[in-house]
Amino acid sequence: MHTRRTILRAGAGAGLALTASAVAAGGVTAAQASAAGAADFGGLGSRLQGDLVLPGDSRYALAKQNQFAEFDAVNPTAVAYCETPADVQACVNFARDNGISVRTRSGGHNYRGWSTGEGLVVDVSRLRHATVGSTTVRVGPGLQSIDALHALAPHGKQVIAGTCPTVCPGGFLSGGGIGYQTRKFGLGSDRLRSVQLVLADGRLVRASANQYSDLFWGLRGGGGGNFGIVTEFEVAPIAAPTMVFFNTTWSWDKAEEVFAAWQTWQLTSSVNLGSALIFMLPDAAPGAVPEIIVTGGYHGPESEAIAALNQLTALVGAQPTSRFHSDLPYHEAMKTAYGCGDLTQDQCHREGTGPDALLHRTGWLREAYRFFDRPFSASDLNRIISAWDGDRVAGQRRFLHCMAVGGNANRISPTATAFPHRTANFIVGFTTQLDQPTAPDAEAAAEALVAKGAALLDPLGIGAYVNFPGSDLPDWATQYYGDNYLRLKDVKRRYDPANFFRHPRSIGSTSQ
Ligand SMILES: Cc1cc2nc3c(=O)[nH]c(=O)nc-3n(C[C@H](O)[C@H](O)[C@H](O)COP(=O)(O)OP(=O)(O)OC[C@H]3O[C@@H](n4cnc5c(N)ncnc54)[C@H](O)[C@@H]3O)c2cc1C
Repeated sequence: MHTRRTILRAGAGAGLALTASAVAAGGVTAAQASAAGAADFGGLGSRLQGDLVLPGDSRYALAKQNQFAEFDAVNPTAVAYCETPADVQACVNFARDNGISVRTRSGGHNYRGWSTGEGLVVDVSRLRHATVGSTTVRVGPGLQSIDALHALAPHGKQVIAGTCPTVCPGGFLSGGGIGYQTRKFGLGSDRLRSVQLVLADGRLVRASANQYSDLFWGLRGGGGGNFGIVTEFEVAPIAAPTMVFFNTTWSWDKAEEVFAAWQTWQLTSSVNLGSALIFMLPDAAPGAVPEIIVTGGYHGPESEAIAALNQLTALVGAQPTSRFHSDLPYHEAMKTAYGCGDLTQDQCHREGTGPDALLHRTGWLREAYRFFDRPFSASDLNRIISAWDGDRVAGQRRFLHCMAVGGNANRISPTATAFPHRTANFIVGFTTQLDQPTAPDAEAAAEALVAKGAALLDPLGIGAYVNFPGSDLPDWATQYYGDNYLRLKDVKRRYDPANFFRHPRSIGSTSQ
């Protein structure tokens, strides 16, 4: 159990950056601040079915929280909890007419704080329905992964989710959406059939292959916070009645063998196999020995999963130090993968968001991820592992986090949706975390380790993932979108010509 709970933290380690002040700087001007001061927020609040929370309100400290405590330093002028698309329209019209900047928030998991800012935070976490139709499922942008599992299980349908129970479709599906299901069923965004959203001019529209098809193209992988505020995703569900969840651990003296074997294993396996390789130092103090985990899900019979795990052992050439697998109803397997196997659904939420919620937030985090189309050579593996294991600092948590991608996600053309990385087989990242975002020396050391990782990964990679945005990524437009960026800028100009929806790396926000 301890190991599985720690995996949850590894997911939480997947990535973030930027100081809170830089978030603010990217989001609001002096003129906007003064406009916000003069605007009639009380009037907006009275028009909402949901709630408007202002500074001074006893709910404000919680309302401004995201997954990362670092961004508690950002103080929005107001947080609007929207309960209907009409609420979202009211917020957009109000902010636009009053010159107030807007950030959109569903699950609040963006590593760089793009879902908060000094203006109006439009929170759609209460849009969390799951409506099952004959061929598709409609989900609200605020439906947390753990709640989607439980809502859809009685219907025998599921949607693609990642490795964190509280991530929401609002960001996850907009940016791509990678999980243990990706090699078999594609990216989350590949399964979108339509998207309902509020545009900058206040219109509520539904984009699909037949209506607003250029916008629909951009909404599949272009990343959240760019074109409008999504109020519903229509998704083709996946047929996954059961899943074999597995978790194996390995001795640190086999680090290079396990890394090389894991890559070969994933490249040669059936698309039914989805997994992550995680090197982990809960405390990177000198002398601490890293843990190695290979964990994931197999979409097929338990006998095949066991054969696959035996194959991994053969490739490593050594036995794992532990090995666990269990064939479970899909939602139970995913709940176990989330580290929530022994928690209730209500407990498996971020603390403060419900009376029973138990999951902790992350304090501070930096990350650098890239996609790769081929396995690392032996010398690259050695350099990556040595760098990750070096420069020890007590009190720092660090991860080398790798996920298998590709499979059926690569049967789609790089230009068919905004997500371009259709030759990728792996995503690999360096991550560092601190419990408190307040120690400059510790932050500098953690940033240096991630920068070292980025320098090693970058020349070998084929691009970056907008949902793991990268703490320091000057060429983000090319890295996220490749040749699709020009088309994304066209879509942006067509639907948001005044650049109303923006954050520090939103489409069209730089000369890139
Ligand atoms: C612990 C953890 C584990 C993760 N694991 C995975 C994983 O396994 N696979 C994976 O692919 N990703 C993973 N991620 C990354 C995750 O997919 C992104 O952080 C995602 O963008 C989060 O979406 P959100 O709605 O929860 O966050 P938010 O911070 O609310 O939103 C993220 C971005 O989307 C925008 N946005 C939010 N809602 C809307 C909306 N309704 N309309 C338009 N724009 C919107 C925001 O403005 C912001 O720019 C993980 C993240 C964390 C923190």
